[in-house]
Amino acid sequence: MNSTAAEPELAEPYLREWLSTVGLDVEYVRAEGNTLYFLDDGREVPVLDYAGGYGSLIFGHNNPEIVAHAKALLDGGSPVHAQFSRHPYANQVATALNRIIHRELGTDEPYSVIFGNSGAEANEAAIKHAELDRVLRIQQLGEELAAHVEQVRAAVADGTARVSGRALAAAGAEAGEDPLEALLAGVARHNAERLARPPLFLALEGSFHGKLVGSVQLTHNAGYRAPFGALAAQARFVPIGRPEELKRIIEEERAELLDLVVTDGAVEVVPRAFPVFCAFLLEPIQGEGGINVITAEFGQAIQQACAEIDLPIVIDEIQSGMGRTGAFLASSLIGLRGDYYTLAKSLGGGIAKTSVMLVRRSRYRREFELVHSSTFAKDHFSCHIALKVLEMLEADDGRAYRTAGELGEKLTAMLEAVRADFPDVVKEIRGKGLMLGLEFHDQSEGSDEGIRETARAGFLGYAVAGYLLREHRVRTFPTASAANTLRFEPSTLISDAEICQLGSALRGVCSVLRLQDGKRLGGA
Ligand code: PMP
Repeated sequence: MNSTAAEPELAEPYLREWLSTVGLDVEYVRAEGNTLYFLDDGREVPVLDYAGGYGSLIFGHNNPEIVAHAKALLDGGSPVHAQFSRHPYANQVATALNRIIHRELGTDEPYSVIFGNSGAEANEAAIKHAELDRVLRIQQLGEELAAHVEQVRAAVADGTARVSGRALAAAGAEAGEDPLEALLAGVARHNAERLARPPLFLALEGSFHGKLVGSVQLTHNAGYRAPFGALAAQARFVPIGRPEELKRIIEEERAELLDLVVTDGAVEVVPRAFPVFCAFLLEPIQGEGGINVITAEFGQAIQQACAEIDLPIVIDEIQSGMGRTGAFLASSLIGLRGDYYTLAKSLGGGIAKTSVMLVRRSRYRREFELVHSSTFAKDHFSCHIALKVLEMLEADDGRAYRTAGELGEKLTAMLEAVRADFPDVVKEIRGKGLMLGLEFHDQSEGSDEGIRETARAGFLGYAVAGYLLREHRVRTFPTASAANTLRFEPSTLISDAEICQLGSALRGVCSVLRLQDGKRLGGA
């Protein structure tokens, strides 16, 4: 099934070699709906695609309506790149997104929209915006504190106030010859120390927010993150479903600046909360972490804890959003409200590369528009494709959302039936709508040496994916950071027959694992 090109492999040669060891280095030559085709002796062989572009294909490969729209745009000579001009179509995308989000959240607060080209880029824009907001808030706090210092100096100079021993102690200072100067030096030292600390982020264990310099530090998988730790701000990772741990981490990192006030003729030190954290990023359903669903209870606990310290929540809907779970935003199903949202993948209709970052008005800093941009972002072509996708999602009173929900139930029922027949092989089925995962029991103590070693190396899911492709012409992959979990993210076009085909394929691989037939799994 491989094309035998004579040229040397220069494009990511190591990855290609690795894919070939599990039989996944297939060249696909055509795609439509849920099907990809490769050539075998000049004949097209169909492969049923459950990987779905990792969630980028809510309406399938090369959806005819989207492709026709794209052709019309190109045939019409649309000005793809006209940076620094009016972009009414970008505004239309923003308006459409607001309309949908307002309906789902039951709010009318506008969200401003910043465009990008990829999921990680949208998250990086959110990270940058949240940091700009934090820096501006700190600046304002600094100005207030400086004004108070001047007031205190004046009050001490004209004899209406004196420095108390309590204030000196609070600032870690000793009276010396000039108690006011000693106090001010202590306060300045304390504050400078806090201000010099880099910002921190909060994220969840199992999170995946991208692999760019900033976003990879908020991606929990240490393999992706650790080598680059020195390049960007760090996150504290909160275990899923453990609100008490969230509280503990917030408490542990809490910091205060020291402010000065005059009360009843005495200069006093007053602590002011310092925004240590920049933002809390989270996925309502973790994709790469193994299809882990955040519960409404945990969502509420996060919402409350963040409100208490005025910490913005960035909801990463890059994989879970765009209707896949039966709602436009998976987070709306658990009543979680974000200060920011990020969307990408299916927003491009399977043919454009585009992403958005949304910020609610009460947090929006217009200065951001002057310090953040990208040559390719907000282009005419991808905005019009995004508009088309949003129109298709909303058509017929949101039929696409209902379809995703209904098909998700069918798919879940099939997966649960497989689990019921193979409880020794399948551990759990997770997810919502058309974002589902099947976790295999750990095979690292399996009786077959090949299976055991593959599992120990963390490659079981890839070996299973290779088997499903070879033997059943079904394409799926494990999630990036949980290799025992297979993901299923088909389009809303998935048919009963295609669900059945996946069922047979999974039963096939479950039998192989039950029988510990390592040779068959490995393709020997
Ligand atoms: N966030 C989430 C939740 C994702 O699933 C992904 C991609 N799998 C990203 C961010 C990064 O998106 P991209 O690969 O387009 O940079």
